[in-house]
Amino acid sequence: MRGTSVIPAKPLYEGKAKSVYASENPDELIVVFRNDMTAFNGVKHDQFTDKGRLNATASEFFMKMLEAEGIPTHHIRMSAPDTMIVRRLEMIPLEVIVRNVAAGSMTKKYPVKEGMVLDRPVVTIDYKDDERGDPMINDDLIEVLHILTADELRKVKEMALHVNKVLTRFFDKCGIRLVDFKLEFGKADGTIYLGDEISMDSMRLWDKKTGESFDKDVYRFDKGDVIAAYRNVLKRIIPDSGV
Ligand code: 5GP
Repeated sequence: MRGTSVIPAKPLYEGKAKSVYASENPDELIVVFRNDMTAFNGVKHDQFTDKGRLNATASEFFMKMLEAEGIPTHHIRMSAPDTMIVRRLEMIPLEVIVRNVAAGSMTKKYPVKEGMVLDRPVVTIDYKDDERGDPMINDDLIEVLHILTADELRKVKEMALHVNKVLTRFFDKCGIRLVDFKLEFGKADGTIYLGDEISMDSMRLWDKKTGESFDKDVYRFDKGDVIAAYRNVLKRIIPDSGV
C-alpha cells in the first residue's frame, strides 16, 4: 500500500530512477519516484534521501501547468508524495531534447562554447536505447524505422516547443534560466501525451544571475549538495511547498 493505491510486489518496469507498477485500473499505471540517482548511463549511482519526493513534486507541478496550457500529459493524480498515478501509454522510444543554451553533449559534439545562447530553441532527438548509448537520430530514420509517422513527429516537435515556451516563461519569473531539457512521449487512443517526468533530473537549470546549476549536473560533476540544489528549485517554483 502506498497512499491510496495498492502497489504490486513486482514492478512492470524498473528504470534508473523510477519504478512502474500495474494498477487495479488497466488504463492506469503507478509510478514511484525512487531515491536513486544515476549518471553517465548508470556508471555513477547513488541514493539520496528525499530525492524521489522532490522530483515527483516538481513533475506533478509542471504536468499540471502544461495541462492547463492545453498540452495532454499522462499525469492523473498523486497517491503519495513520491507516487504518481498516470495514464497507461504506449511509450515512444525517443528522448526529445529542447535546447535554449549550449551545454552538455551539444558542446562535446559541436564547436560551440557552453553558455552560448542559441538563436532559437533547437530540438534534438536521441533514440532511447541504453545498450546503444542513446544515439542521436534524425527525422528520416524515425520514419523509416516506423517509430513515428511524419505527422506524428511534427506533432511531437510542436508539443516540445510549446512546453519550452511555457516553462521558459515560468522559470524566467523564478530567476532561473531553462538551458535544456528532455521529454518523453507516448500514445493512447490515437493521442500523443507527454509522459515520463519533468524534473531536476531531466532539465538543466541555471541561476539567472550567478549561472549556478540547480540540476543533475550538480551530481554528474560533483558540484556540491545535489539535494540542496533540488530543494532550492522547489522553493523558487512552489514557495509554499514547505520542502
Ligand atoms: P545532453 O544531451 O546534454 O546530455 O542532455 C540534454 C538535456 O536532456 C539535459 O537537461 C539532460 O539532463 C537531459 N537528458 C538527456 N538524456 C537524459 C536521460 O537519459 N535521462 C534524463 N533524466 N535526462 C536526460
